[in-house]
Amino acid sequence: MSFDLSLTPAQLDLVERAHAFAEDVVRPVAQEYDQRQEFPWPVLEEAAEQGFYNPLFYRDLIGDPTGLSLPLFMEELFWGCAGIGLAVVMPALALSAIGQAATPEQMLRWAPECFGEPGDLKLAALAISEPQGGSDVKNLRTTARRDGDDWIIDGHKMWIGNGGIADVHVVNASVDPELGHRGQAMFIVPGGTPGLELVRKLDKLGCRASHTAELRLDGVRLPGENLLGGDDKLEHKLAKVREEDASAAPEGKRSSTLGAFEQTRPMVAAQALGIARAALDYATSYANEREAFGAPIIDNQGISFALADLYARLDAARLMTWRASWMAAQKVPFQHAEGSMSKLLASELAVDATEKAIQVMGGWGYITDHPVEKWYRDAKLYTIFEGTSEIQRLIIGRTLGASATPPPPVHVTAPTDGPPLNAVWGRGTPNRTKVAQAALRSKDRVPGPIMGVAMKLLSPPGRK
Ligand SMILES: Cc1cc2nc3c(=O)[nH]c(=O)nc-3n(C[C@H](O)[C@H](O)[C@H](O)COP(=O)(O)OP(=O)(O)OC[C@H]3O[C@@H](n4cnc5c(N)ncnc54)[C@H](O)[C@@H]3O)c2cc1C
Repeated sequence: MSFDLSLTPAQLDLVERAHAFAEDVVRPVAQEYDQRQEFPWPVLEEAAEQGFYNPLFYRDLIGDPTGLSLPLFMEELFWGCAGIGLAVVMPALALSAIGQAATPEQMLRWAPECFGEPGDLKLAALAISEPQGGSDVKNLRTTARRDGDDWIIDGHKMWIGNGGIADVHVVNASVDPELGHRGQAMFIVPGGTPGLELVRKLDKLGCRASHTAELRLDGVRLPGENLLGGDDKLEHKLAKVREEDASAAPEGKRSSTLGAFEQTRPMVAAQALGIARAALDYATSYANEREAFGAPIIDNQGISFALADLYARLDAARLMTWRASWMAAQKVPFQHAEGSMSKLLASELAVDATEKAIQVMGGWGYITDHPVEKWYRDAKLYTIFEGTSEIQRLIIGRTLGASATPPPPVHVTAPTDGPPLNAVWGRGTPNRTKVAQAALRSKDRVPGPIMGVAMKLLSPPGRK
């Protein structure tokens, strides 16, 4: 399926419903949950009632071949509030990791446990990062060792969304530290398992309605069935890695941990777009109403040019995010790290847009009477989690060093769309140009109506 910007009726409906939810349910309570740093249970209940909090909803969005449903939903929800948005979508992040590693039976067992039902909601967490380093996932120190049929996990996790309060924790741990990230595996640690300790809830700058925690895993005993993918798959993978020289593992081969992040990057980029759009729209309305020196401040190019630049960047970042999402859905490889590019641009835009919104609003932007100071605090997270901006640049930079001549852009390498005749008679082909030139030369000799019919007949063969 080719990349297409026209939305289906279902996608348009999704945008409208998600926007109404963000506007009517999320925004009115966003400041309160942010200030109290409290988990927004009633909002989650309403999300579940409206169908935005269940595994089938996310399976549907992830399975959309156009790739657009997921970023469309994310942008609208996070336009409402990023902290509440994170609380709503955190189980989807865990589900995405489960989806990459689990057997179909495990998926069926654990996916409902990540969300629960209206009236009996559940939470899920994805626990990767550790106190000594989040970027360097090859160097994680949490270990898993076998004990008979069971696994014993020991380690320390940091900054974990829903950590310690989740019903399902997807935890990655090293089963063979010598093999680096390819010696890691993912486990399901149910909430309440003895040895799983919520050390503390973290006090954050932004996204404060979401729960983020430090966790300790001290001799956590799990049945063998909680290893995602199962024993045989793990043994097969480890044997293969050991056969190769582990230290020279090919870059192209990814661990399930890295794979989960790559898939979710455009989704996180779309969240940042929602924050940026909220701030730009708010600042623009303000700039149209606020007067200084007898005129609306938008009349000053110092204000309007800055907003114009940011709106142009917003549109560029959105297009890039949609393309990355379409590529992920169509399994087009990220040869230029397009997922990282979208996350890098969108997250830095969110920081710049929210900062500019404060500047446009002057003193009013700096106080809590308006939401822009909150959006500024929320936006900053986006250059840090799911891979910092530096790590995105590192990933993009690596693709540049991968070969002497970088591969052409994705539209050149993607499969063509249209009938074969299009290559000889399509727009811009030499044949069409020659015939058009001949027609132009004879225009004075051929009557207009005949010329019109000829031109219709000579129209290029279209797309499928
Ligand atoms: C609110 C919040 C929520 C989070 N949620 C989760 C979650 O749910 N699950 C989870 O597993 N993790 C989560 N994280 C963790 C997050 O992914 C990490 O904080 C992030 O990956 C960065 O790791 P770090 O903080 O250890 O920084 P470090 O890796 O120590 O990096 C510190 C600085 O060094 C830079 N740096 C590191 N290596 C390089 C390099 N090679 N080149 C250039 N610069 C470099 C980084 O860009 C950064 O600026 C969350 C974090 C926050 C703040």
